[in-house]
Order: sequence, then structure tokens, then C-alpha cells
Amino acid sequence: MTEPVPETRWEPDYTLQAPEGHTWMRQAPEDCPRCGCCTKTLCDTATERGLACSWYVDKEPGTADVSDCPCGRAAEELGFARYYVTKATPEQRARFEQRHDPDKVARVKALVDTLDEHGRPRA
Ligand SMILES: [Zn+2]
Ligand SMILES: [Zn+2]
Repeated sequence: MTEPVPETRWEPDYTLQAPEGHTWMRQAPEDCPRCGCCTKTLCDTATERGLACSWYVDKEPGTADVSDCPCGRAAEELGFARYYVTKATPEQRARFEQRHDPDKVARVKALVDTLDEHGRPRA
């Protein structure tokens, strides 16, 4: 009969300072390779959902401002394009074209041409 092995678990002590000055830090999130403002996760989420990055970030004073994120702008336009092909009525399409600046409308329409009727990229 062998002795039962006592349960062991890893308990990191973040207050420990290593002699050479190394300190425990939370791992930095991966930066988005396409912009200078967001984490990769934030831009990927925005692109997947078709909404601007700033939609997911608290806009209270003193918090991150990512309203100028180029990925978020592209994500939002992709979201418009998906809506355009999947759900928008002709009236909603007309209203969208009236309310947004022509450059944006042109970009969204160019995206529309790349999507199938389910709003997915054409193969
Ligand atoms: Zn980005
Ligand atoms: Zn972003």
C-alpha cells in the first residue's frame, strides 16, 4: 500500500520580487496588427459583429477612446453591408444612402458586391 500523494496546486505569488528586479505582471494582450489603438481581440470582435470598436469600449472620460480605429470603421461598414444584403428593405436602403456621406455609401456598396445573400463573403 502506497502513501496517498498530498494534493498540490500552483499558487503564484504576485507579490514576490525576484532578485534581479523582475516582477510578475499580467500578460499583455496582443495588439491589433492593423491599428495603433486596440487589442487584437477587440478589433476581431468588432469585425465579427460588424460594429465599431468603440461600441465595446466604455466612453466615460479617462477611458480608452478608440472611436478613430480604422478597423472599427471598416467593421461598421461591413456590418452595414451585411444588413444591406440580408435584412434591409428598399426604403431602409434609400434612407441609408440619404443619411450617410457618399464616400461611405460607395464603400458599403462595394462591400455589398463581395457578399452573398446571407451576408457572408462570396467564395
Ligand atoms: Zn485594429
Ligand atoms: Zn479597433
